[in-house]
Amino acid sequence: MSNRADPNLLLELKQYGEVNIESCFNCGNCTAICPLATDETPFPRNNLRMVQLGLRDHLQQSLDPWLCYYCGECSETCPRQAEPGEAQMTMRRWLTAQYDWTGLARKFYTSERWEIGSVVFVGILVVIAAMLLHGPIVTERVELNTFAPVHLIHTLDWIMFVGLAFFLLSNVFRMYLFTIRQGTDLEIPFSLYITEIWQLIYQFATQSRWSKCDEDPEKDFLKKPLWRNHWFLAAGYVTMLILIVVFLKWFQTDDIYPVWHPQRWIGYLATIALLWGTIAMIRGRIKRDAEMHRHSHPSDWMFLILLLSTTVTGILVHIFRYLGLPLATYYTYVLHLAILTPMLVLEVPFGKWSHLAYRPVAIYLQTVKEKAAAKQMAEPELTPSLV
Ligand code: SF4
Ligand code: SF4
Repeated sequence: MSNRADPNLLLELKQYGEVNIESCFNCGNCTAICPLATDETPFPRNNLRMVQLGLRDHLQQSLDPWLCYYCGECSETCPRQAEPGEAQMTMRRWLTAQYDWTGLARKFYTSERWEIGSVVFVGILVVIAAMLLHGPIVTERVELNTFAPVHLIHTLDWIMFVGLAFFLLSNVFRMYLFTIRQGTDLEIPFSLYITEIWQLIYQFATQSRWSKCDEDPEKDFLKKPLWRNHWFLAAGYVTMLILIVVFLKWFQTDDIYPVWHPQRWIGYLATIALLWGTIAMIRGRIKRDAEMHRHSHPSDWMFLILLLSTTVTGILVHIFRYLGLPLATYYTYVLHLAILTPMLVLEVPFGKWSHLAYRPVAIYLQTVKEKAAAKQMAEPELTPSLV
């Protein structure tokens, strides 16, 4: 690991968020109060110190910013108003840009023009594709599958999904290279990656670290708003992604199913979860009601606006279809795709949605590292025999 100091690191980080790291005098109060910091991962102070010293490689190889869930307790109690919680958030954006080999994440996070321009550009491409590829427009009744043949949409869904999975997974692989291959001298047995894989799945499915941001035993999942709202958002989003990528033929149909049919209530539940999570976060950012909502980067707003617009246009397509309004259904469907597509192809591999992958991967890799270190400590040292 290189100890070379980069005097521009702090300035570079400031392009990714409102950090006030220069005010920190390293008292360590933030790490002491953080409910998620441990002896092995003494964040946020250690990360702030890395930035002050310009240790670019150390920061790039650190998993700690991903282990912070932005409860904000450190920022509330910092005697210097150094905003350590926001600093961790800013480092996550910076790290996302470091992992991304295409350079797009850096452009999206540091330039509003780039972010808005690419969303508009992809949206226009979708509208042009819809104008060129749509099927016959039936106006006597709603025939969405005639206007937008489901086999065509499904094929395009798969092309998009394979593309975004490729970019996201290649960036996750670079995260592994930085944090494990370059970031530690530990000998990590391959078997540990297999035995700890459950951590990855468990953390992705439950996001249970959010619960530790408020450790009041009296409170359950529903009374912990940070955990509950993030879980609703992720669960709704993943369900919708599975429905459109795997089950589109069942989901996009001209048949009207009864309300008790799984096709309808699964869709309704996912929509309610998405709406709940999105509105709660927009409300929080407008009211600035929690520490994590006091600072909003343009990428936070872009993400929420795209998500809300996608959900609302999806609901409108459903309503127009059920009311039997053909043209309103078709036009809103195109608008829905023009918002949904940039949200998926830009936000998942390069933007805010990538956190959904990086966070559980970081917890998994940190667990693997800690188990490997414990194993190494437990092994008796080989003493050279005296001959
Ligand atoms: S961020 Fe604040 S609490 Fe943390 S070490 Fe610096 S001055 Fe102390
Ligand atoms: S925001 Fe919360 S979880 Fe993150 S470093 Fe501060 S106290 Fe820890």
